[in-house]
Amino acid sequence: MKIKEYRTQFIQELTSMYGEGEAESFFYLILEEKQQLKRIDLALQPDLVLSASAIKVWNSILEQLKLEIPIQYLLGKTSFYGLDFEVNENVLIPRPETEELVDWIISNNQKSEPSKNLKILDIGTGSGCIAISLAKNLPNTHVFAIDVSEKALATAKKNAVHNEVTVTFIEQNILETLDLGKDFDIIVSNPPYVRNLEKEEIKKNVLDNEPHLALFVEDHDALIFYRKIAELAQKNLSNSGQLYFEINQYLGKEMVELLQKMDFKNIELRKDIYGNDRMMKGLHL
Ligand code: GLN
Repeated sequence: MKIKEYRTQFIQELTSMYGEGEAESFFYLILEEKQQLKRIDLALQPDLVLSASAIKVWNSILEQLKLEIPIQYLLGKTSFYGLDFEVNENVLIPRPETEELVDWIISNNQKSEPSKNLKILDIGTGSGCIAISLAKNLPNTHVFAIDVSEKALATAKKNAVHNEVTVTFIEQNILETLDLGKDFDIIVSNPPYVRNLEKEEIKKNVLDNEPHLALFVEDHDALIFYRKIAELAQKNLSNSGQLYFEINQYLGKEMVELLQKMDFKNIELRKDIYGNDRMMKGLHL
């Protein structure tokens, strides 16, 4: 079958669910990943065909897209901060908001003296997207990354190798960690922060497919991870060390209060491109 003909059929079948634009973008993502072809190749060679076995693969992806399984899981990869990351059901799919957090950290630190070796800790690393993009973009760093999930860490390790950076991975439950005994210059975390009461705002494809361990917290103690990480940061950040968080958009005020109470200085709250309170920074002076 000609790819062009399959394209028409594929987009048609997904348009009512996703809209034509998104259905088309899925088509080209799969084309690139599975056939190693770009849009331009199809324009230049309109007679290219899909083999019977390729059609089977495409049809299987199509059926799973109809079940709202995220395209990133179906292709097993995604892009974050210009880098490729393997993803699977054990790790959260990296979000654009988190790229904004990474960008903030990089712009605050890229001018630090070249002689200074930055020690960075990422807590709840998941796919490793924060740890790896910081290691890749900040020179002279030693990045450590913790996660409670052995399976997430296995994915993060592959991502570090694939992106040619060295990260020290540690399997640990942050709620049980008392002291890491290192003088970190930067501690960063995007911990679980979605409350049950916000569950209905979460899209079905996220709810049904992404790891709840990485997403949800109890309503009555929504800041449990932040409190614990801030306590650890008081002990394990160097003098004028920086603490960064991605946060729940509805809890900006509570987060500022928490860091003030714990004596962090120069506290900054930032919005993401959607205008939601999404990240913050505090200094340990
Ligand atoms: N921002 C994520 C979402 O949209 C939640 C990430 C998290 O809980 N850390 O689902």
